[in-house]
Amino acid sequence: MKKKPIIIGIESSCDDTGVSIIQNRNVLSNIIIHQNIHKKYGGVVPELASRLHDKNIVKAVQEAILTAKINPYQIDAVSFTLGPGLIGSLLVGASFAKSFSMGLGIPLLTVNHIQAHILVHFIKNANINNSYPTFPFLGLVISGGHTQIIKVSDFFQMKLLGSTLDNSIGEILDKIAIILGFYYPGGPMIEYYSKNGNEKKFTFSKPTVNGLDFSFSGFKSNVLQFIKNKLKDNTFFIKQNISDICASIEKTIAEILLEKVQKAVLKTGIYTIVLAGGVSANHKIRKTFMSFGTKDNRYKIFIPKKEYTTDNGAMIAITGLMKYKRNLFDSIHVTPYAKFKMF
Ligand code: AMP
Ligand code: MG
Repeated sequence: MKKKPIIIGIESSCDDTGVSIIQNRNVLSNIIIHQNIHKKYGGVVPELASRLHDKNIVKAVQEAILTAKINPYQIDAVSFTLGPGLIGSLLVGASFAKSFSMGLGIPLLTVNHIQAHILVHFIKNANINNSYPTFPFLGLVISGGHTQIIKVSDFFQMKLLGSTLDNSIGEILDKIAIILGFYYPGGPMIEYYSKNGNEKKFTFSKPTVNGLDFSFSGFKSNVLQFIKNKLKDNTFFIKQNISDICASIEKTIAEILLEKVQKAVLKTGIYTIVLAGGVSANHKIRKTFMSFGTKDNRYKIFIPKKEYTTDNGAMIAITGLMKYKRNLFDSIHVTPYAKFKMF
């Protein structure tokens, strides 16, 4: 096995085509082609997503190779997202990766998307801490598809401790955002408008779910009902209060997450917390966790740099690299899966 293997990572589980080339833990290129078409539909349209992956994947791979300044024959293995995700989107990445592996005669490495969100922290300088988390730690995955607390004992030893019983946190933000008049994806828009808002102006209900599971549908209904009632008296309510509404939503969500993580810490005795997934780009959530970690020095909080929060090829490549180092290669006959599976 080469000392500094070069791995290509292909991510196509949702609406972003991500292709990255890494050498050891260094990112040589990380190309993401976004699909803006979904904006007008208020969410990802699976059929359109898979067609656009098909259109974009060759371009993304070519750009990744050019940016990395390597020759394709230098690539030692190809890793790709096998699941969970939208099946049509996954099939595009899988078919491409299989052909690429056969064409170059290099091994294939399949990657679980959620695991990859967490392992992105093992890329050199991928987090704002500029250091690697040490095992064991608690992974908090907050994304468009998932909201989970995972106990991570090693790269491939992970245990699901809690998960959302209904919608994911990203889904909720995106749905609330539509009501507020924003387009998809709504999370970044809520963050944008929350600036200078008074986060204490409005109070929203927090879910009471036992154990380490989450639930966000009650919170969503509470926000929507509140806005509906206010609009009855004042049709300009949203416009006049947008910053305070967004700030109050963010504050509630950050508190829900932190309270649940504190519960997980009490249960496991693990004080190292690793944030991952698109929603971890949110400044209020980042600030809440960081200032909590500063107050209690038993805690170590790891926060990904923004480019490594949402779906990207680098997280697939680093997870592939860890499998490559352990000779965990996969057969060309593997097939993608849509639903979450434990790793
Ligand atoms: P992922 O599924 O990991 O690609 O994450 C996508 C989700 O992250 C979407 O629901 C976005 O609305 C959400 N998101 C992205 N950036 C932010 C942000 N700055 N604040 C809140 N949510 C965000
Ligand atoms: Mg994701």
